[in-house]
Amino acid sequence: MNRTNRGSTLVIGAGLSGLAAARALSDRGMPVTVLEARDRVAEPWRGRHPALRLNIHRKFAGLPGQAAPTSDGTYLKRDTVVAHLERYAARLGAPIHYGCSVKEIAPVEGGWHVTTDTGFHQAENVIIATGRESIPHVPDWPGRESFAGEFLHVADLGEVSRFDGKRVLVIGAGNSGTDALNHLARHRPAEVMVAVRHGPAVVPKRIFGYPLHGLARVFAALPNGLLDPAFRLTERIFLGDLRRLGLASHPEGGSTRLLRDGVTFAIDDGFVAALKAGRFRVVPRVERFDGARVRLADGSSRAPDIVIAATGYRTGLEPLLGHLGVLDENGRPRHPTGERDPGNPGLWFTGFKPIYTGFFDAAGIAAERIVRGISHDAFCAAPPETTGAAVPRATAKLTASAGAPLS
Ligand SMILES: Cc1cc2nc3c(=O)[nH]c(=O)nc-3n(C[C@H](O)[C@H](O)[C@H](O)COP(=O)(O)OP(=O)(O)OC[C@H]3O[C@@H](n4cnc5c(N)ncnc54)[C@H](O)[C@@H]3O)c2cc1C
Repeated sequence: MNRTNRGSTLVIGAGLSGLAAARALSDRGMPVTVLEARDRVAEPWRGRHPALRLNIHRKFAGLPGQAAPTSDGTYLKRDTVVAHLERYAARLGAPIHYGCSVKEIAPVEGGWHVTTDTGFHQAENVIIATGRESIPHVPDWPGRESFAGEFLHVADLGEVSRFDGKRVLVIGAGNSGTDALNHLARHRPAEVMVAVRHGPAVVPKRIFGYPLHGLARVFAALPNGLLDPAFRLTERIFLGDLRRLGLASHPEGGSTRLLRDGVTFAIDDGFVAALKAGRFRVVPRVERFDGARVRLADGSSRAPDIVIAATGYRTGLEPLLGHLGVLDENGRPRHPTGERDPGNPGLWFTGFKPIYTGFFDAAGIAAERIVRGISHDAFCAAPPETTGAAVPRATAKLTASAGAPLS
């Protein structure tokens, strides 16, 4: 039986995180193959609403070896992101198998056995880059199925002008909820209600015309203890007292929530002005649905035409990896950005935790970490960090080189 090549790698997912990791490996001449469930690159971006722009500064939207396009100004348009990723994939010196959805990942002696809907693959390393927003999440509200109006997740927002003249209830004012609200503020819905549990940490998109995210590298270098009060103060000075608009502050600061919990800031690009002008109203959190009405926590109810649930996403990794104990209680990897997992040598994750500079920059950081780890393992027979800490491997032997489909 063959043993797998030392350092051979499968990357699961051809999004920006997976492509950056694959590029870092192939640039160093290390064998790598990418498995992508969809038929082409950037499908998650193509599915997002057409008016979407990145909320990160262009200078942080480059990928290792490819700067961000300059055509759109500071914030890249959705279609420009798609073209950016298409170009990156086309220049990748490694094969991408499209239409190849990974269904199972299991440890075997010396590596990993990966089962897909088209066959199976084996490699010493597997990099999970399947995205943090794989599955739109909707809470299990009583009566939701019987709601008489239109109900959608913010992932399916579509063309925002279609809400003109409608009574809209947005549930959640986090990053994607406020993105929807910013766009609604530029259109003419008849009424917009925002149901919130806690107010988000809100930052203005620009201060005196300057894009705040341009300072992300500075924020990343400052201590958290300084950032939480600094962002609170920024919010207060530039947006006013949001509690008076019904957006009660979260007890914890925005920086703490970003760095510890991966909860990104809400970015104001018009929705706060719409609240102040009385065009939008904050309402209590949703308890349940009841025919045409939505019942709220204070006992009142509303009858919107459309409900937009901006209630987050899940990784959907439990069926693939739940048995390995590598996920936290929210189904997110415990080693989200290319850190070594001593309990699972050869299993790496990228794209699962935001940082101040955004996911493109994080993809580059994770890629470098993973390459260093894989190079180390390939050239050192027994890496000191993993010796003695590895989980017992299954007894199956590896039978093929990385990425070679066996069926
Ligand atoms: C509305 C919205 C706006 C956003 N805006 C920004 C922004 O402005 N800035 C920013 O930094 N981030 C933003 N994000 C976060 C954004 O998702 C990430 O920046 C980026 O898409 C993550 O890339 P990724 O490669 O990690 O994951 P994805 O882009 O989700 O790619 C994962 C890939 O893995 C594939 N895949 C999944 N499961 C399998 C499987 N089982 N087998 C094989 N392949 C599989 C998928 O088909 C997909 O192609 C936004 C997210 C949303 C939802």
